[in-house]
Order: sequence, then C-alpha cells, then structure tokens
Amino acid sequence: MAGIAIVTGGSRGIGRATAVLLAERGYDVVVNYNADARAAEETVAAVNAHGRQAVAVKGDVGSEADVLAIFAAADRLGRLTALVNNAGIVDMQSRLDEMSAARIERMLRVNVTGSFLCAREAVKRMSTRHGGQGGAIVNLSSAAAVLSGAGQYVDYAASKGAIDVFTLGLAREVAAEGIRVNAVRPGIIDTEIHASIGQPDRVAQIRDQLPMKREGTAREVAQAIAWQLSDEASYTNGTVLNVTGGR
Ligand code: NAP
Repeated sequence: MAGIAIVTGGSRGIGRATAVLLAERGYDVVVNYNADARAAEETVAAVNAHGRQAVAVKGDVGSEADVLAIFAAADRLGRLTALVNNAGIVDMQSRLDEMSAARIERMLRVNVTGSFLCAREAVKRMSTRHGGQGGAIVNLSSAAAVLSGAGQYVDYAASKGAIDVFTLGLAREVAAEGIRVNAVRPGIIDTEIHASIGQPDRVAQIRDQLPMKREGTAREVAQAIAWQLSDEASYTNGTVLNVTGGR
C-alpha cells in the first residue's frame, strides 16, 4: 500500500534515507524538519528524482500546533497511508544528577509527546472508526531503551522505552481499525545525532566493539522501516525490530 507518507525529521539521517526509500517504493512524502530548511529541500529533491511528490514542512513535533500543520500539508497531497515517527533528539552525555528540568522536559516532549501527537493525528485519518481506509505507523525506538543509557543519557533511553510500550499499546488499540503500529530499534547508525551527545567521533570509537565490527547505515534502518510499512508485513503488529547488527 503506497500512498502518502509523513516522515518526521526527514531532513537528515535516518529520516532522509527513509523518505528516499519510500519514494523508490512509490510513496509521495511529507518531509518534516525542525530547523534545517536547506537539508529538507535536499530530501525533497531526492524524492522528486524518483518521480514522486514531496513537500518540506517546518515544524517542531513537540508542538501541537506544528503537528496539526504537518498533517494539514499531508491532507493537501492526498490520503495518508504511512507515518514514520522518526524525529528525535539526544543531549550532551550526562548523569541524572547533572540534568536540568528543562533538558528532561524537552527530551520527553520531542521524543515521546511528539510521537504521541503525530500518531494521534494519523489514527484520526487512517482508522476505519473515523471513516479512514487504514494505514501503518512506524516509531523509532533505540537500542538505548534496552541498554539503559546509564551515565550517558538515561532521559533519552527512558524516552525510547516509552516508545516501545506505546508501540505495543497503540498497535492493540487500533488493530481492528485497519492500522498496524510497529517500531524499529536502531543500534549505532552513522548519522549526525552523535555530535549532539558531544561525541562526533563516537561511531569510530565504538566500531570495534560492535558485533559486526561496523556501524549501520541510515539506509539499512530505512529498509526495516519500509518493510514494516509494507503489505509484506501485513501480520506484523506491535513489534519492535532490532536493527543493531546483533548488539
Ligand atoms: P539526526 O541525524 O540527528 O536527524 C534528526 C532529524 O530530526 C532531523 O531531520 C531534525 O531536523 C529532526 N528533528 C529534531 N528535532 C525535531 C523536532 N523537535 N521536530 C521535528 N523534527 C525534529 O538523527 P538520526 O540519527 O537520523 O535519528 C533519527 C531517529 O532514530 C531518532 O528518533 C533517533 O533517536 C533514532 N535513533 C538513532 C540512532 C543512531 O545511531 N543514529 C540510534 C538509535 C535510534 P533538522 O534537520 O531541522 O534539525
């Protein structure tokens, strides 16, 4: 089932790779971004290069008004069939006793509330309960949800733990309404997110400790997301798929 996909945080990294792969699979794509308009336009151009429509929409997923604007842009393209809750943040490596309330609030607002609000709007459009024709949602978890982030970012890890539980709960809530909800749990993936932990060379440092002796690519995560969205995953629901190279 191709159609219209929203990819939050589609301007860079895993989000961009997902937007481009979905275009290859026949989707038109709403490319949400937070700040980097130029990067978002590069994603739009890459989608267009595959003969699909795309629109870049600036918006903070942690803002309800912005989320409504992102979905209004999708409504203008056509019938929403896919949501990828990809936008996510991490912060400087820190212990809990050094974290400000503002940091914790922002982490949960973007990573958790943002995914909830976007999923809510997707359900309103996809659910047969609301006159929709079904669809699929994929949330971005993280290996940190299992590894815990102790001494580094327990706030981030806990936000992704919330995503794991949310994925199963929402999947069961809307399973009879034509919507499947799944998640991918990436390990170490070569994107710019590691710079915001204060460790731009983190991937190179940790590479030899990884089971496959290499990091994953954004494209490899996108392939798992695209599969979860596809009809090939038609009985896969409420699942969190590790894309960690076995870590
Ligand atoms: P990234 O390279 O840092 O890109 C993050 C994307 O999210 C950018 O497009 C950014 O937009 C957007 N974004 C950030 N805050 C936003 C907000 N408040 N509202 C809307 N968009 C926002 O990150 P990534 O590595 O691709 O990670 C993507 C997802 O995978 C995240 O949920 C992350 O937690 C998860 N993940 C990543 C890894 C990894 O190793 N890379 C591992 C596990 C899980 P701008 O360009 O405008 O800033």
